[in-house]
Formats: sequence, structure tokens, C-alpha cells
Amino acid sequence: MIATALVAVAAALPLAGTTVHLDAGHNGANGAHPAQINRQVPAGTGGYRKACDTTGTQTGDGRLTESRLTLDIARRLQRRLERLGARVVMTRTSDDGVGPCVNARAAIGNRAHADLALSIHADGGPVDGRGFHVIAPLAARVVRPAIVAPSLRFARQLRARLDGIGLRRCTYIGGGAGLVQRSDLGGLNLSRVPKAFVELANMRNAADARLLGRTRDRDRIALGLARAVARTLVRGAPPSRGGAAQKR
Ligand code: ZN
Repeated sequence: MIATALVAVAAALPLAGTTVHLDAGHNGANGAHPAQINRQVPAGTGGYRKACDTTGTQTGDGRLTESRLTLDIARRLQRRLERLGARVVMTRTSDDGVGPCVNARAAIGNRAHADLALSIHADGGPVDGRGFHVIAPLAARVVRPAIVAPSLRFARQLRARLDGIGLRRCTYIGGGAGLVQRSDLGGLNLSRVPKAFVELANMRNAADARLLGRTRDRDRIALGLARAVARTLVRGAPPSRGGAAQKR
């Protein structure tokens, strides 16, 4: 009886024992603090440096900012992952602060020994461009080369699950692949845990902006992201948390 109950709990909480870092892009007060946001911080190996953070984009009508959107998606995803048993560490839980800088964002996931980290963004692309794309790190500037392969696997899962909920792939970056690898993102370069970025849609496009404004579509996106996290962690799970931690 007890064994049956334990199996049932394990099935209901497939992410029990895992830690996920959710990094909602930008912050609501970044634009009002240019000196803090523009200062250069470490952003990769070889002395690579970049601005602390940026203001992010917004819809053409100015009604929805990227920072507000990404926090809302992150919260929806947090609830879903916690329901699956994961411990979720959030970069921020409000939209009225400044930063943190990209290096501090990476440090949050590293300190938490997260099994996965996800940076959530929406793009400011050409007004006639649409769709999502996922970004995985390239080896060139990463501080821990061992994250490149698992990060790419996570990125592919994200693409598959966003495809699966019917989100369209980016029409202006990646040649229809919906996935690119970059070496210029400090949040990826400085991560010591597998990490990917997602650009959920193009906020400058009117149709994408409408989609991002709808609660049911935000929830659908959070569902797709949660599925990607769950599939990556349950399938490609390291043999034990202890084993993974020792390698760091
Ligand atoms: Zn962004």
C-alpha cells in the first residue's frame, strides 16, 4: 500500500528533487537608470564584456513592455513547474526594479545549482517578422564547455514543445530553424548549468503583439515551456543530483 502510494506521488511529481532557474528578461525600471544599465560587466571568457542589461522592447502601441510580459510568463511557468514538484528559483518577482546585470543573472542559476536555466524574452524585430526562436550557447565564450551540449538539447526540446502548442517559428532569424546558437550573450556564456534563451515572439509585429496580450496564449506558451523543461529533466536526467553537483 505504501509502495503504491509512493509510486503515485512520484508520477504526480516528476520533477521532485530538481531545481529550475527562471530568468525573466530585463526589468521595469531599467530605462530610468541608464548609468547602472549601461555599465560594462563580464559577459564571457577572454575578457568579453557587455552592458549590464538593456531596457528590452515593447509592442508598437507601447501598451506592453517586454519586462512585464516576461515576468508574467515566468510566473505562469513557475506555477506549472512547482505543481510538477520542481524547486523554482526566480531572477525577479516584480517589475519595478533595475537589472540585475547579465553576470548576476547567470550567477543566480549557478548558485542554485540549477538543473536547467531558462531566460525568457520577446524580441523587437522587423515589424513584418513573426514568430519565436530559441537561443543556445556556442562554445566560443562559455565558462563551462560541458554545458554546451545539454543546453542545445534543452533548446531543441523548447523548440519542439513550442512547435507543439502551435507557436510559429521566427521568419526573420534562423532561416526557419527556430533555433540559433550565439556566443554574445553573457547570461549564457557565464552559466555553469545548462541554459537556453527563448524569444517568444516579435513584439514589434502587430499579430504577435496581439497573441502576447492574450491570457490564454500566455498560458499556452507557459504550458509548452513547462513540457520542454519536464521532458529535458526527466529524460536526460543526470544519474543523481550528487553526481551532477560533484562535476561543478
Ligand atoms: Zn529581451
